[in-house]
Amino acid sequence: MIARHDINFRNILKRANLCVPDGVGLLWAAKYQGTPLPERVTGSDGVPLIAARAAEKGWRLFLLGAAPGVAEKAADVLRARHPALQIVGVYSGSPAPEEEDAIVERINASGADILFVAYGAPEQDKWIARNTPRLRVKMAMGVGGAFDFIAGIIPRAPLWMQRLGLEWLFRLYLQPWRIRRMMRLPRFVIAVLLDNLFK
Ligand code: UDP
Repeated sequence: MIARHDINFRNILKRANLCVPDGVGLLWAAKYQGTPLPERVTGSDGVPLIAARAAEKGWRLFLLGAAPGVAEKAADVLRARHPALQIVGVYSGSPAPEEEDAIVERINASGADILFVAYGAPEQDKWIARNTPRLRVKMAMGVGGAFDFIAGIIPRAPLWMQRLGLEWLFRLYLQPWRIRRMMRLPRFVIAVLLDNLFK
């Protein structure tokens, strides 16, 4: 919905090597348009899976973003799960352009292979797009609230709610201020219906 009026963000999504459907609305829209997708793929599920693989393969991780202390806590949780895991950097920082040079230097100096950026969409994606040319990591990925979940700051919805496609409702209950961004959802449904009507 942001990409509809933000051309920069739209181009970033188009140029990305991988865009994953992280919300139930996207699954519905894909099915409605006759191109169904098998399941949701969220940063919160993806980060622990990639970390497990990284521990096996020796890939080095850098965790950027979230509130101060949260990425450290998430790193501790992941290291406890995978003693061989190399987390070579953790930094909260902010997506403000003034901080970029110092953050890029820090990441490059760490020798990280994989960079997870938790600044929320679309800031995290714009941050990655702006800095990819000078970052020496092999992959960078926006992960939204993943560190908050891994650190246990915010609980995930119970599995039954996730399966029923109601994780958004659980998050709204925990973080009622998300109502403003969630108001995009009915507009998304209308946009998909209209798109299909005029195809
Ligand atoms: N965040 C941050 N700096 C900012 C804005 C956001 O570190 O200037 C972090 C915030 O603490 C949270 C994450 O970015 O950990 C965004 O989480 P959210 O749940 O909003 O992302 P979503 O998964 O919904 O895209």
